[in-house]
Amino acid sequence: METGFGNFYYKDGQLYCEELPVEEIAKQVGTPVYIYSKKGIKDKINQYKDAFKDYPTIISYAVKSNPNLSILKIAKEEGLGADIVSGGELYRVLKAGIDPNKVVYAGVGKTDRELKEGIEAGILSFNVESIMELEILNSIAGQIGKKANVSIRVNPDVNPKTHPYISTGLKKSKFGIDMEDAPEAFHLAEKLPNINLIGIHSHIGSQITDVSPYKEAVEKIAELVSKLEKEGIKLQYIDVGGGLGIKYKPEDTPPTPYHLAEAILPTVKQTGLKLIVEPGRSLTGEAGILVAQVIFLKDKGEKHFIIVDAGMNDLLRPAMYQAYHHIIPTKHKQPSIKADIVGPICETGDFLALDREIANLNRGEYIAVMSAGAYGFSMASNYNSRPRAVEVLVDGDRFTVIRKRETYEDIIKGEV
Ligand SMILES: *Cc1c(COP(=O)(O)O)cnc(C)c1O
Repeated sequence: METGFGNFYYKDGQLYCEELPVEEIAKQVGTPVYIYSKKGIKDKINQYKDAFKDYPTIISYAVKSNPNLSILKIAKEEGLGADIVSGGELYRVLKAGIDPNKVVYAGVGKTDRELKEGIEAGILSFNVESIMELEILNSIAGQIGKKANVSIRVNPDVNPKTHPYISTGLKKSKFGIDMEDAPEAFHLAEKLPNINLIGIHSHIGSQITDVSPYKEAVEKIAELVSKLEKEGIKLQYIDVGGGLGIKYKPEDTPPTPYHLAEAILPTVKQTGLKLIVEPGRSLTGEAGILVAQVIFLKDKGEKHFIIVDAGMNDLLRPAMYQAYHHIIPTKHKQPSIKADIVGPICETGDFLALDREIANLNRGEYIAVMSAGAYGFSMASNYNSRPRAVEVLVDGDRFTVIRKRETYEDIIKGEV
């Protein structure tokens, strides 16, 4: 039976991931557990590859969405590059064997150490977000006797119509350089001796469910590219960032990589530049779930609470963005009550769902929080001194623990 979530479906009343019953995995490794479908990730990668196959395109996986080394290994096997935002992510990416020549590095606050590490690794592009960053990068590159490849991140001032916390291309945002100020940055980059100016970058936001803002952004960028060309600046790459939305409700129909390609390729082609895309959520999001066990049930008059063993420290999105995640029992049951599904953390904001129609569950039963493969584990913390969850990768009828559950000793490691 379909759940609306691809590789997760019910068979004989049991929720499966690929060919394995989710509850079996949960019983073997305990809860909370993040379960990822390898096929789910590869299917999405292949959609991107196919959608952009007729145009020279580098697909750089946005590591922050799910940085587990085994997930990065899949990206590597599929020939993807990486979009990184920290030295820690660069370290992971190199460990996973991803080609540095397909690595792009964004972020408004790269430290000297991080800039140095990126230059030494020989990454494809620093996506530079300010004039000061450009100058410091030039001087650090000079000190180590190498050139740094640079794209300028511009802020096309388009509204991606998503949650304000994940809108990154509006004028008031801290990201990128405004369009009016951008030419100055390009001319400076062209002049600086240790900078190799290669491209233009933008990333307008995340969980974008309509491709028209991409079209608008790329049109503004193409205009700037042609203006720069007239001024003698020739680029090689146009990087349109990530941000494509995914399905959080079974009935959602987010745009696919094909829709994205259709919206932007005509304009990109006119520039003649090679394309870089940086998908994160749209590769890993729908391919993962978070499974938790019901600890207690509690009724306060009309109000029902289902208290489970996964909280905001495991999945921050509901608390941070008021995000909706679909929740279903691992044993199929029709919804029959309305309840708040909450975690054990001592915060009122610690919920997975509010006023949700759900089956009447018993203590010890399991729930699956859908579309938790991106910005799930990667935003997890040890708040309330809770060990972080175990992560599992399913491949057909087999599963592998790709990150062990933390222990109490792990939590205090490094403390005095
Ligand atoms: C976060 C981020 C991405 C990925 O965004 P998704 O919504 O996960 O696709 C891509 N590029 C940059 C610069 C980012 O900061």
